[in-house]
Amino acid sequence: MNATWSDRWQAEIERRLGEGVELEFTLGQFAQAVEAGDADGALQAFLDGLVSASIALRRDVYRCPMGPCARVLPAGMANTVCPFCLADYQQEGVAPEAEPAYRLVGENSRDIRWVIVIHGMNSRAKWQEVFSWEIANRLSYSAPVLIYKYGWATIDVFARWLHERLARRLGERMRIAIEQAQKSRLPTRPDIIAHSFGTLLLSRVLEKPEFADLKFGRIITAASIVRPDFDWDRLIELGRVEAVLNHVGGQDRAVPLAQYAIPGAGPGGTVGYLAASTLNVRADHYGHSGFFIPENLGVAISRHGLWQAFLTRPLAHFRPQGAFVPEPHWRPAPLLLRWCTRALAYGVFWVLAPFSWLRRRLDP
Ligand SMILES: [Zn+2]
Repeated sequence: MNATWSDRWQAEIERRLGEGVELEFTLGQFAQAVEAGDADGALQAFLDGLVSASIALRRDVYRCPMGPCARVLPAGMANTVCPFCLADYQQEGVAPEAEPAYRLVGENSRDIRWVIVIHGMNSRAKWQEVFSWEIANRLSYSAPVLIYKYGWATIDVFARWLHERLARRLGERMRIAIEQAQKSRLPTRPDIIAHSFGTLLLSRVLEKPEFADLKFGRIITAASIVRPDFDWDRLIELGRVEAVLNHVGGQDRAVPLAQYAIPGAGPGGTVGYLAASTLNVRADHYGHSGFFIPENLGVAISRHGLWQAFLTRPLAHFRPQGAFVPEPHWRPAPLLLRWCTRALAYGVFWVLAPFSWLRRRLDP
């Protein structure tokens, strides 16, 4: 067997398993895909090798032996007459030919059903338009996208009781969207993309008993300010969340400060999540908002981009570039220190509150 040929076959098998596509094929179909000869004995030996290694199952199919027809016959039929060309084999003196067929052992790719995007603070910037445009153009699915707007959260973030209000509003809005999806016969679990302060609000909704009925598909957190020790494992185990991708910016200067100013926040978006069932991926050159710069966003949601791949591929084989496992010893900064800095932030909050109110009036 030619080594470069078998490498190429192996690469094609890995591609199909990784993307969860074309898992079922006959010998002939695979031969055509890798431009090998149909009668290549080495190719069949290679595929049968996959069967011995439990990577594939073999279940041969039968093909109509009549030249002009030559269609694959339905499985389990007592094939004496072709259902397509109606040739009677006994009369013709021929018999259906067996053809090796294989099924790779793996999950099929998954559709993006619909997506809820929860942005960070002051994200009224252009990216929302860009995002809607890019997602409509680049995503190879036409999945409905709901961009959740919680208004002009500025200094609200320093006060826990205001978080509660924002989280409750988000949870209620998501419940309405899920009910609407049900009526439109969309699957009831949306996928989620959350950024910065939006990640903290999402984690609050997930923790609240009153929203325990809400279930989600795959969740992407970017520039997360959720604590690294947040218990994603339990949410995944309970079936509330299917999977989590934590996209970390290597140059993020805002995330490390979050715990000193925002109650309940932590540096999930730099340290990573400790929960074993989550996937942490670092983009070395991204700052806090790097994820939503049009060219980066375009890449992430393009056909083989990280976000689209995470939302569609079987995750058993998903090990993207930049994946890392965080140090298991993360501890929050000393409580006293956090109290002091938060008290300061809270003080600033009350000084600035009237201005914030005014700004909201003028610029809703
Ligand atoms: Zn036939």
